[in-house]
Amino acid sequence: MRREEMLERVRARGEPWDLLVIGGGATGVGVAVDAAARGYAVLLAERSDFGKGTSSRSTKLIHGGVRYLRQGNFGLVTESLRERATLRDNAPHLVNDRSFLVPAYAGWERAYYGIGLGLYGWLAGKRGFGASRVVSRDEALSRVPALARRGLRGGVVYHDGQFDDARLLVHLAITAAEQGAVLVNHAPVEELTRDGAGAIDGAIVRDLETGETLRVRARGVVNAAGPFGDAVRRLADPAAPASMSPSQGIHLVFDRSFLGGSDAVLVPRTEDGRVLFAIPWHGHVLAGTTDTPIGIVPDEPKPLDAEVDLVLRTLARYLDRAPSRSDVRAAFAGIRPLLRATTGRATSKISREHAIRVEAGRLVTITGGKWTTYRAIAEEAVTSAAAVAGLPARRSRTVTLRVHGHGTVLDPEDPLAVYGSDAAAIRALAHEEATLARPLHPALPTTGAEIVWAARHEMARTVEDALARRTRALYLDASAAAGMAPEVARLLARELGRDAAWVEAQVTSFRALARDHTVGSEQ
Ligand SMILES: Cc1cc2nc3c(=O)[nH]c(=O)nc-3n(C[C@H](O)[C@H](O)[C@H](O)COP(=O)(O)OP(=O)(O)OC[C@H]3O[C@@H](n4cnc5c(N)ncnc54)[C@H](O)[C@@H]3O)c2cc1C
Repeated sequence: MRREEMLERVRARGEPWDLLVIGGGATGVGVAVDAAARGYAVLLAERSDFGKGTSSRSTKLIHGGVRYLRQGNFGLVTESLRERATLRDNAPHLVNDRSFLVPAYAGWERAYYGIGLGLYGWLAGKRGFGASRVVSRDEALSRVPALARRGLRGGVVYHDGQFDDARLLVHLAITAAEQGAVLVNHAPVEELTRDGAGAIDGAIVRDLETGETLRVRARGVVNAAGPFGDAVRRLADPAAPASMSPSQGIHLVFDRSFLGGSDAVLVPRTEDGRVLFAIPWHGHVLAGTTDTPIGIVPDEPKPLDAEVDLVLRTLARYLDRAPSRSDVRAAFAGIRPLLRATTGRATSKISREHAIRVEAGRLVTITGGKWTTYRAIAEEAVTSAAAVAGLPARRSRTVTLRVHGHGTVLDPEDPLAVYGSDAAAIRALAHEEATLARPLHPALPTTGAEIVWAARHEMARTVEDALARRTRALYLDASAAAGMAPEVARLLARELGRDAAWVEAQVTSFRALARDHTVGSEQ
């Protein structure tokens, strides 16, 4: 995946693309993989970086959704469990089996959660991850040593899928490119264009690095702009009514010692009636999430103080050692592009299902969905977009299509495990140049070799691309990531041919971003 080559292919294309995909999140990249694998000519334009939107800010679960079970949404749970198994088959280097403990403090809880999670396992059928079972107080404490002891009666253990969202996205982008798709990041769609008959026939895309404007013609256009989908719809029809109710969710990241052991914890009911997870992730603990309805969708959402306090209060009820603001290594927020409810329901009650609508002739917009079901959503969207664009009908191939990197499955504790079969080449880079083998900061295992790899093969163009999404340094320890920024900027400048002024500007802007990923002192 080399950006210059991708842009050259855009410039050189004489005939219209079969499909133009707007947005490089799970939905858009999933569409690009599916469409390219069917043999359609696909161009994907992402206005910032792949995964800059919601798709790098999730809870990182490939799951049926225990809370959807509680809502009685069996259709979504069953479909998600099926997709969970498919994704583990196709991307075993990125989707792991994780055991979860649901602690029980009231007498009825063990039986209640035991029955519910038994049903969850039964719905997964033969392709389940592991059977659930009721455990004693002693076993609960041995699995999660940091659990609050007072009143603990035991719990229920069940299994679900865990992944690294931005890494899966990058590997899907590479998969799409391997199938023939052209993908360009830092390239917003600024206008939709129309033919003489008034039908949408393409778009104006800008290369943010040079300012060049590209006129792109396409038989069909897929709007996969997630929370920004309505803004894209309004490029076609300024009067288009809102189709979604955006809702923010945050996560806080702590040292691993706050949980201990290797089980995740599911808090079955927070004070606002939701579930909350605390999950081991890349040697840390990831805790979240919240559900806060918002009006305007910001480009860079920030955790609200009330959300941070809610997560901390909930953890304090369930953990022996209550974490405080000063224990937060990183904090991040994401926006759910939820389907707009017909009634005034709370956003936590709105279905995570998706809708695909065709408007203004040839604009196919996907709204809603979740990471777990991205493949099924993409399959449905491509079938619909191909019909709208008048393309020859072809069957989807993604149920059995392997995701880039699938050939090597390393121990999940290995920092390079998320690279799958690319890990060997990254180790070779570190071997060739000893300075690239050293961690860039004592708090994290991220090395210069990963940054060079990201620039050469994964289209990382900025310090943020490299530290937020190709590696997860920003989301694991924001201060450590800020400390790495000068070295990362120098490495990228060497790879991309940038000057000292670029390095300085990159460091300044990344440090400002890193500050927004901390939570500040006690309120
Ligand atoms: C807090 C939280 C936790 C979640 N946890 C989970 C979970 O554990 N498991 C799960 O299955 N799902 C989870 N989800 C849901 C899942 O993350 C989302 O459904 C999914 O990431 C949405 O992907 P998307 O591609 O539709 O949107 P996005 O990832 O937001 O992608 C849209 C992209 O479009 C780009 N774009 C916008 N306008 C333009 C333009 N004009 N030109 C070009 N590009 C443009 C944006 O830059 C963005 O990158 C969670 C969501 C949130 C918010």
